[in-house]
Amino acid sequence: MPSSFSRWLPLLGLFLFGALAIYLVKPPRPLPADAPAGEFSAYRAQRDVAVVARQPHPIGSPANAQVRDYLLHRLRELGLAPTLLDTSALAASGSEINTGRVQNIVARLPGRQPGGKAVLVLAHYDSQPQAPGAGDDGAGVAAMLETLRALRTGPPLAHDVIWLFTDGEEVGLLGARAYAADTARLRREVGVVLNFEGRGNAGPSLTFEVSAQNGWVISEYARAAPVPIASSLFYEAYRHLPNDTDFTPLRQAGLTGLNFAFVDGFPFYHSPADTPAHLDLGSLQHHGSYMLSLVRHFGTISLAQTKAPDYTFFNPLGSWLVRYPAAWNLPLTLGTSTLLLLVAALAAQRRRLSAASLLGGALALVGGLALVLLAGWGLLALVAALYPAYGAFYGKAAYNALAYQVALLALGTSLFAGYYGWLSRHLRPDTLVGGALLVVALLLGLLQWQAVSSAFLLAFPLLAATLAWALRLRQAAAPGRLPAGGVGSWLLALPAVALLAPTLYLLLIIFALTPLVLISLVFLAVLLGLLLPSILPVLGKAGATTVRFSWQLPGLALGVTLIGLAVGHATRLPTSDQPQQTHLFYALDADHGQAYWLSAAPRPDAWTRLLLTQPQYQPLPALFPKQTTSVLHQAAPALALPPATLSVLADTTVGGHRRLRLLLRPGRPGVLALRLSPADASGQLRWLRVAGQQVPALVPRTVASGANINFFAPRLGGEVLELETAAPGPLQLVVTTRSLGLPPVLGLPPLPASVVPAPGYNSFTTQVKKTIQL
Ligand SMILES: [Zn+2]
Repeated sequence: MPSSFSRWLPLLGLFLFGALAIYLVKPPRPLPADAPAGEFSAYRAQRDVAVVARQPHPIGSPANAQVRDYLLHRLRELGLAPTLLDTSALAASGSEINTGRVQNIVARLPGRQPGGKAVLVLAHYDSQPQAPGAGDDGAGVAAMLETLRALRTGPPLAHDVIWLFTDGEEVGLLGARAYAADTARLRREVGVVLNFEGRGNAGPSLTFEVSAQNGWVISEYARAAPVPIASSLFYEAYRHLPNDTDFTPLRQAGLTGLNFAFVDGFPFYHSPADTPAHLDLGSLQHHGSYMLSLVRHFGTISLAQTKAPDYTFFNPLGSWLVRYPAAWNLPLTLGTSTLLLLVAALAAQRRRLSAASLLGGALALVGGLALVLLAGWGLLALVAALYPAYGAFYGKAAYNALAYQVALLALGTSLFAGYYGWLSRHLRPDTLVGGALLVVALLLGLLQWQAVSSAFLLAFPLLAATLAWALRLRQAAAPGRLPAGGVGSWLLALPAVALLAPTLYLLLIIFALTPLVLISLVFLAVLLGLLLPSILPVLGKAGATTVRFSWQLPGLALGVTLIGLAVGHATRLPTSDQPQQTHLFYALDADHGQAYWLSAAPRPDAWTRLLLTQPQYQPLPALFPKQTTSVLHQAAPALALPPATLSVLADTTVGGHRRLRLLLRPGRPGVLALRLSPADASGQLRWLRVAGQQVPALVPRTVASGANINFFAPRLGGEVLELETAAPGPLQLVVTTRSLGLPPVLGLPPLPASVVPAPGYNSFTTQVKKTIQL
């Protein structure tokens, strides 16, 4: 039926355009190993990824020492003279203090104008305990080596380039913190910083973080990067959310810079499956395309003045980057809102709308949003209940998360369409459209207020949708005189799709299947609200007096929901390529000669069930005296594993307080981390010095209430700490050592090829706990 098809055509066109907009947000194609010598080739860089990410190499492990030596060798091979900065670093957050021995590698590529400011490029070479770390952060490390190689084929740049391979990023940014400790030197020496990360192993490398006062750096970035994927939305999100990459201490030191990461392939993040074979070479190429172009650019231009007022920047389509001063957003927001009010007034004048009905239309969208969110929440809960195995993964998302995300969006669309189909029997199109635009205007005001440089996200779609509404009002007033009016208003729907569809897609990738993914449903409701002029015609056919509701769109979207769920179900089982994650560890309570198998999961899974035959899910005060939360555990054979030792080097009393100098020894080889916690109130301290460094004054309350200190990569000979207790009496401390791997206990079932250890610091470790009284 042609008339039915023509009603569908605008919506179909918008859908296809949205699919194209999402498709275009992709990394560049990887260049082959025989690409010109001056270019970055992901295939060449892949050879370094293969060595760096051969096996897990957490801080302090022999495997990490191998990676360190390999990087030193490769840098010398490239004609540089690298230095090893072997030092101790400390990071404190909340009641946790992380400290450790870090071995940063620094190499300087000299420029033609020595003495000026340099470009600093960094990535971390340590990995998580269970992960080979091809994506996190082998890709960043390998990109640095390949970029260096490409740069060496040309003449020197004007400025020096400092290449920093940090250690201990995974345990509190220890390497970057150590490097950034001398803030004054850093500000003197470094003009601009580029940090490279991976939160997954695939997808485009996003320029997800920018230092404050970003006008200069964004302008230069836009000039130089061949495939810039960036958004002020990320910039604003990062200003409001806590974050943890090596970029943080450098940004906090006041440096100007950019932070890059690919975020797709989340189930591979920190997993044993983050192998070189699984790394998306497009992501690696994207890292390299930024790194080489930006080092060449920043290495040439003046780095004297690197701050300017914030810019707004975003990709309207693919890697096309638009930028303008963020200060322009205020007139844009005010102008757009004023125009909307004028058009609404015009509609009212034509008796197509009243103030009350406009309010009703606005409430209708709010109701639609609530409906979509509620259904999305229900679907997430259903998936979590039906497939508990997904819960082992970060974000509760296994490799097939996309199927459920499609189901989530389709369910939202189905309900939204059904709801608006029902509404359109009672409310006129202008009421529904005008009300939706009013809600978007209010959200725009919120953005303008709280996240000014991301106001573009709603301002342009709203401006275009308002103009389209005006166009339709004119057309209705003079039918036949404006035959292109329909096409015009359809074209004006494109900005909403171009800006919101890829944003929605990125939010799905970032938030996986956590409750935060519901934010993408807010964007969905806003997008559908803006597209109402194209949606309403397919929801019903206006008869003489009434509107006949059509089930086609809600039914179609519901069908897609069911297909998504079916695909998810069909792909639920793990394979050796996409393995299931499982969590288990062994802990010996050396105080009582008791040992336990423990798991972070609430229930045993298919593999841990073989061992946890009669598990208990309750608190375990013998191991975790301060913890009231339940933990899955079962008694295990007690092995004769020696605990850590704490010996007193000096013990004096000053002004009624005990001042102690202690030597903490791991007690057994292979210990990657030592944890020291106060056993009771006697562990309240007045001050604390670890690794020769005073625990920062910013956490005096932490010290007073008893801090947990984690020593990473402890020397076998021991670590010295000094402290002063609050009380004069005896001091009781709990020391727990942690080494990688489960102990060789009889009857331990082997891991099938399709099951791997879950990420984390406890997963597949052997721990020994001992209480020490001093
Ligand atoms: Zn990382």
